[in-house]
Amino acid sequence: MNVLISGASVAGPALAYWLHRNGARVTIVERADAVRPGGLPIDFRGTAMRVLDEMGILAELRSRATGSGDTAVVDADGNRIATMPREIFGGDLEVPKEDLTRILYDLTKDDTEYVFGDTITALTQDTDGVRVEFEHAPPSTFDFVVGADGLHSRVRALAFGPETGFTHSMGYAFTAFSMPNYLNLEHSGLSHVAGDRSVNVGAIRNNTEAMAFFMFPAPDVPRNREAQEQAVRTAYEHVGWEAPNLLAAMSAATDFYFDELSQIVMPTWSTGRVALVGDAGYCASPMSGRGTSQALLGAYVLAGELSTQDSHEKAFAEYEHALRDYVAANQEMARQARDMFGLTPTQEMFDAMAAAGTDDDSSDNVTLKDYVRLAQ
Ligand SMILES: Cc1cc2nc3c(=O)[nH]c(=O)nc-3n(C[C@H](O)[C@H](O)[C@H](O)COP(=O)(O)OP(=O)(O)OC[C@H]3O[C@@H](n4cnc5c(N)ncnc54)[C@H](O)[C@@H]3O)c2cc1C
Repeated sequence: MNVLISGASVAGPALAYWLHRNGARVTIVERADAVRPGGLPIDFRGTAMRVLDEMGILAELRSRATGSGDTAVVDADGNRIATMPREIFGGDLEVPKEDLTRILYDLTKDDTEYVFGDTITALTQDTDGVRVEFEHAPPSTFDFVVGADGLHSRVRALAFGPETGFTHSMGYAFTAFSMPNYLNLEHSGLSHVAGDRSVNVGAIRNNTEAMAFFMFPAPDVPRNREAQEQAVRTAYEHVGWEAPNLLAAMSAATDFYFDELSQIVMPTWSTGRVALVGDAGYCASPMSGRGTSQALLGAYVLAGELSTQDSHEKAFAEYEHALRDYVAANQEMARQARDMFGLTPTQEMFDAMAAAGTDDDSSDNVTLKDYVRLAQ
């Protein structure tokens, strides 16, 4: 089996690992010139921990854990009004995204052909394979193509249609960027909610830096950075606390992230010999705190089904069957978290959110097949 994956972040390399382990030949094309850096803390929950263990990278990831503690929710004068337990943001294991993607790359680089600085420009499929054209590399044919290229997936646009058909806006914009840790936070965070907009800041990279997050209502999302920065400044014009100081660092940030908070909802995650995995197929938005786990479980199941079913049609159908409910629960959870905006934050609210994730019947625990045994 000869598979092309678009995207070398979480879902792409995890899929490459499992496909190779099951005997496939894998190429990954990544638009960036290298695996992307960035100290954004991301986390894993429930069954995803078991998959990391089976990949042999759980111990290394644990050694890179952020160690982040609780987040204090403060009023405009900086007085603590509640505490957000660390589980809400940190799940079962929180690591910097750059460490995760480097570990996944190192795990797969010897058995996967990585092509950086390139992208797919056209896909043509028939019953035997998919002919792929690239911006730089010569055209080539693969048995399957998988889009692991995130929220704004090129593979999805080429194979399924324009993004507008699958994007569900949550009505908010989301901004994140790193900055000096001028508040001297130690493995902790601060959060301030002013009506329907929030501002958070947390220590990253072992307290040597901090990352600021802003979420605010935005019916229209500007596309260029200058207009995006202006939209954030306008939204926080009358928000006090540390917002002005945090915004003062925005223009200098080299990792400025700005996007509409949105989810991807698709009637099917495959068409012919092309499939989607992770955010490309079922982004739940940063509000869910489950995107990385979804990407990992998606990769595990998709590779497992492709390796154990006697046709790709059955494999793709089983892949969806195994994960549809899990994804729907994560997307619903994100919408519920979004709907809490505008409510006055209370300790009961945060305790209930934290408890939902640690429950034995939490939706983070998914029953999955043991594909390694099935493939033997
Ligand atoms: C600010 C923020 C905070 C978040 N916090 C959390 C959290 O706390 N917990 C959590 O679980 N999740 C969190 N997430 C979500 C999580 O980062 C994603 O769900 C996860 O990274 C999805 O992985 P992925 O591999 O599917 O896609 P991505 O990580 O988005 O990777 C897509 C890859 O495809 C590449 N690519 C894009 N277009 C092309 C193209 N045309 N050709 C080739 N390559 C391409 C990109 O460069 C990138 O490397 C957060 C996201 C954001 C933005």
